[in-house]
Amino acid sequence: MASDKQEFINGNDVIEKLQISLQQSEERYRTLVTESPETILIIKAGSVQYINPAGMAMFGAHHEEELVDRPFMDRLHRDDQRKMTGNLDSLLDIGDRTEPCHERFLRLDGSTIDVEVKLILVSDGVDKAVLVMARDITERITAQNAVQYMLKYDSLTGLPNRRLFQDELGEAIASNASAATLVAVLFLDLDRFKMINDSFGHSIGDQLLILVCRRILATVPQGATVARVGGDEFTVVLEHITHRAEVMAIVKTLMDSLTKEPFFLHGEEIFITASIGISVSPDDGMDALSLFRNADMAMYRAKKIGKNNYQFYHSVMNSSSIATKQVTLERALRKAIVRDELYLVYQPKVDLKSSQIVGLEALLRWNSKELGMVSPAEFIPLAEETGMIVQIGEFVMRSACAQNRLWQDLGYEPICIAINSSARQFLSSDFAKTVESILEETKLDGRWLELEITESLLVQNTESIIQMLYTIKSLGVQISIDDFGTGYSSLSYLKRFPLDRLKIDQSFIRDVTWDPDNAEIATAIISMGHSLRLKVIAEGVETEEQKKFLFERRCDEMQGFLLSKPLIASEVQAMLKKK
Ligand code: C2E
Ligand code: MG
Ligand code: MG
Repeated sequence: MASDKQEFINGNDVIEKLQISLQQSEERYRTLVTESPETILIIKAGSVQYINPAGMAMFGAHHEEELVDRPFMDRLHRDDQRKMTGNLDSLLDIGDRTEPCHERFLRLDGSTIDVEVKLILVSDGVDKAVLVMARDITERITAQNAVQYMLKYDSLTGLPNRRLFQDELGEAIASNASAATLVAVLFLDLDRFKMINDSFGHSIGDQLLILVCRRILATVPQGATVARVGGDEFTVVLEHITHRAEVMAIVKTLMDSLTKEPFFLHGEEIFITASIGISVSPDDGMDALSLFRNADMAMYRAKKIGKNNYQFYHSVMNSSSIATKQVTLERALRKAIVRDELYLVYQPKVDLKSSQIVGLEALLRWNSKELGMVSPAEFIPLAEETGMIVQIGEFVMRSACAQNRLWQDLGYEPICIAINSSARQFLSSDFAKTVESILEETKLDGRWLELEITESLLVQNTESIIQMLYTIKSLGVQISIDDFGTGYSSLSYLKRFPLDRLKIDQSFIRDVTWDPDNAEIATAIISMGHSLRLKVIAEGVETEEQKKFLFERRCDEMQGFLLSKPLIASEVQAMLKKK
């Protein structure tokens, strides 16, 4: 009996202990559930039966009644409801849990939350219920979306970028091909945008781009895709076109809307022009890339023939054409500096009386890996048009000054090196500062540097340019007018500028001994220069006759193949005198 009782007591004990432990574990589970930072809810027969405090907070509920005993589907984003119903059904039918998946919940205020949801089947022996565990992943999704956005859209204008544009163009080509309609790509590049950027500043430049973007959007037909594919480059995709004439009409309207009315920015009236290239599928390309390239090529042609116009792509533009060459040349030139393909040669200048070398002219050379030797007559205009000249010009000045310093350090008699500078460089307001800092950096006295400028700069005749030339002059730097006689400068202009030298353009020298007109011009330039107390130098002297002619007319200096072709630094060094 005793043992029975003992057993009985023991049995009670066990049950009690079990109950306690069950209670404890239930409590533990309850604590886990109520304290969980993740949302936990139980649904039964489609209704929320229980929700933990984290869940209440997530849905923005203050009372359980706002959620409990109400349909779970009400809390799901409409687009996710069908998927969730399917998941719940299959869970109740077969599985015991689902893989975590991305859903959108609806807060009580109607806003959405991105969540990662896991469903677990639970049963109390009679009824089946579903335990829903959900984690807020809004932040992760927001970050992902931001990256996705940046990969696809231009941050300044909000337009699709080049990548998204190509995707959408690809889709357009496919859907128009099946509808037997045409797709046109317009490649629009603003003319002289860099000039606007340089003269008005980048923030005005940016705002102008935004306004341009708005005008394009307001002008193109509905359904057209507009993208920004580069700094000042926009593309437009026109779909469901039946004839090229339709495209032409749209392009004309677009051109007019951009160029006929000015843009107003900070009280400034800015007029712009644009060059547009057009390619049309399927004739000009069956895939996004070739249509894009060919529109680009046509745009280059529009630029080449004077800007402010539009051009349809023609297959002859490809391969041998000028446009392709321009593109290839520009791409290669962009890499030239970093690839170390640019270098200087030096052409001596002599005094006509003493025959002594009195200076050198630094001339830029480009030995391109892809294109071989390219003449400056070919790439300098391109560098000017694209604005690359500013960087290239700095490279030239720095190299010439550094070379000059080196020769002085090696004990040679100091010599003045002239470099060619483009008008474009003078347009950036800090050009004088650049000259000063390069002289400082290379520790070269300013009097050993000379800037050759062109008449086109003088014709602009603005106070700011005169001012800048005086500042440069105050550093000791000499200033000469290159290719004199080919521009429009008059005597009255010249007086206003602090000049040292006139260089008679070689076209007058070439024929000076048999063309009386040129002889007269050359003579006039020499005496005009002298009356302005300027030295006069003749370029392109190739023969003894020319030299004699110049000597007799009291020209001061000369430069040309008769004396020497441009030489590389080591060859020049052999000609220099030791102190
Ligand atoms: P430029 O400043 O008038 O330079 C003189 C050009 O005439 C050089 O051609 C030179 O090689 C050539 N030349 C010299 N002597 C004779 C001669 O006796 N006969 C003939 N037929 N030609 C002669 P290059 O080096 O091809 O330069 C052409 C132009 O490119 C230069 O004309 C200049 O305007 C520009 N350029 C060259 N280097 C630079 C540079 O570093 N910066 C800038 N902005 N322009 C440059
Ligand atoms: Mg020159
Ligand atoms: Mg010249």
